[in-house]
Order: sequence, then structure tokens, then C-alpha cells
Amino acid sequence: MAPMASFNASALEAVGVTAPMPRRTGFAQTVLGPLEASRLGVTLAHEHVADGPDVLNRWPKGWGGRVEFVARAVEKLKLVRAAGVGTIVDLTPYDVGRDIRFLEEVSRKSGLNMIACTGQRFFPPQDPHIPMPAGTISGLTEFFKKEIQQGIDGTAIKAGVIKIGIITNHPTALEEIGLRAAVRASKATGVPIRIHTDAAHRAGESDAVILEDEGINPARVSFDHSDGSGDMDYFLGLVRRGYSLGMDHVHRGLSPDSKPSFERRADCIKLLIDAGFAKKIFISQDAEFGGLLLPEEVRNWREKIDPSEGMLFTTQRLVPYLKKIGVSDSDIHTMTVENPRSFFAQI
Ligand SMILES: [Zn+2]
Repeated sequence: MAPMASFNASALEAVGVTAPMPRRTGFAQTVLGPLEASRLGVTLAHEHVADGPDVLNRWPKGWGGRVEFVARAVEKLKLVRAAGVGTIVDLTPYDVGRDIRFLEEVSRKSGLNMIACTGQRFFPPQDPHIPMPAGTISGLTEFFKKEIQQGIDGTAIKAGVIKIGIITNHPTALEEIGLRAAVRASKATGVPIRIHTDAAHRAGESDAVILEDEGINPARVSFDHSDGSGDMDYFLGLVRRGYSLGMDHVHRGLSPDSKPSFERRADCIKLLIDAGFAKKIFISQDAEFGGLLLPEEVRNWREKIDPSEGMLFTTQRLVPYLKKIGVSDSDIHTMTVENPRSFFAQI
């Protein structure tokens, strides 16, 4: 006899009601299915791969078609795999060119785990032709839950993280809807939240007010691009409250007109570790993979600020530099392996 649970699930589907998915506690949701979080390995927690085909559409001469582009992308991603990376977290939601089938294909062919996101980058979407799936907290919550529990763009490929982009230091009314919906979807599904922040203007603090009003567990949130602030007071305030910090723009400090400097951003990582907060730091490089495959002359601003090492910046340049200034192998392991393991595991 069929188990009661599956019988009930199909009965519900037959009447158009979707049964809630059982949570896979301790598993991270990758594009190839749930994976024990202990198998994620070195994880780059904030990157962009899924918009590769969209970026390449701007360069019609390139690659001669999708098959060739996929082959080139896989070849590059295998180098990232060979550098010791196990998992890339893709933070490209529906409104900025996410191609979920591409992400699944390059994950399968490169051997790199990929975690896809739901969420939204801009409120409203920058492209006026892309409508928001809903303009209310409850409507947006349902959309995020659907992409986490059922799948993305008509596939069965599920999101394993929620990405929210907050542009300013104080969220707009629409951004606030996004933050509240993210907390509700996170609490309903057990997946974590990563937020694009303007750290130079202490945006994490005003985001936190809204998140906490919704009853967030701060351990389920990372404020990304945090190294854009060189202010230890800002960092310590957030980590002491339980939030994580994504230090993923360190390469931007290499440009002479960018502040804080590369050295200051790296020093802040070391100072936070010395203060006992290695468990609250992610290192990554927020690189746009498709843009990195474009020739220099057709890159726009966004691609030009990505590191010249591309997806290899963290492993080839940042980690060696951190070791040089005294960060231990054990702390590198905490930031690159242990923190992603606990953060991306569904609770
Ligand atoms: Zn990003």
C-alpha cells in the first residue's frame, strides 16, 4: 500500500492544492537537488553565473551560439573547481536575467555545486518590461516560497537562498515589502537570506530594524558587500547581534579611486577574526561570470569592476593575502567551508 503521505500529496495536487514540501534539515538545496551541507566544500557565497547567456546576448558575435557558450563556460568553471572550490552560490534573481537551465547545465558539466536564489535585485525591477510577480508582502512571500518549494521558471530546480537587493541606506516602501516577504519565506521554508547592502552608509542597521520587526533569526541573514564600509564599529554592531557579513568586494579596493583600500578591507576581516567573529564572515568576489567571458572592449561598468582573476580572485589572491597578514588556515576554513555549511543548510 502506498504511504499515506504520498497518497495525500497526489490527492492535493489533483485538486490544485500543493502540499508543503518536507524540509530537508541539514541539506543545502543545489540546482541538482538537496545535498548534505557537509559536502558543499569551499563555497563562494555571492556570485553571478545564471545571467551568463543574458550578458552574452549583448555580444552577438560571441561564441557562435548557446552550445559553444556553455562549453566555454564549463571550461572556465572547471578551473574554479580545480582551484579547490566546491560550491558557487548564484545570487541572480528573476529580474536580472537569471537563466536557471543554464545554471543547472553548467553545474552538471563542470562538477561545481550551484545554489540558485529566489528574491529580487531591484525594487521595482530596473527593466520596465519585467513586472513584479506581486506588489504585496503576502504575494511576494508566496512567489519566493514557490521558487523554493516547487521550482523556478516551470522547472523542478529549486532555490536554496533568498537574495534581496536594497539600494539605499534606508529601504524604500517597496524594498521594505521585499525584506518582509524574504523573512516570511525564510521562516516558512528554512532557507537563509542574503542582502545587497550599501555598507558605506550603514544600510545593514536600517535593514535589521525591519528584519527584526518580522522576528528574524539574525543567524539566517548575511549583509553582503559589507567590506564597502571600513568601519569596525558598524561591523561589530552587526556581528554581535548575530548577523553575518559578506566580504565580497575586497577587489574593488585595488582601484586607486575606490575606498576603503584593498588593504583596509582585508585588515577589517583580520580584525573581526581577532575579535572572535570568524564564524560571521563570508569571503567571495561578487563576480559576473558571463561578463568575464566578454572581450574587454564590450564590457560595461559592471564587468569592468570585477576582479581580473574573475572567479579565481578569492582563492588565488584574497586567501594568500589574508594568510600573509596572519589569518590562520583554520580561520580560512571556518570562513570558506564551515560558515557556508551551517548557513546554507536548511533548518
Ligand atoms: Zn551580487
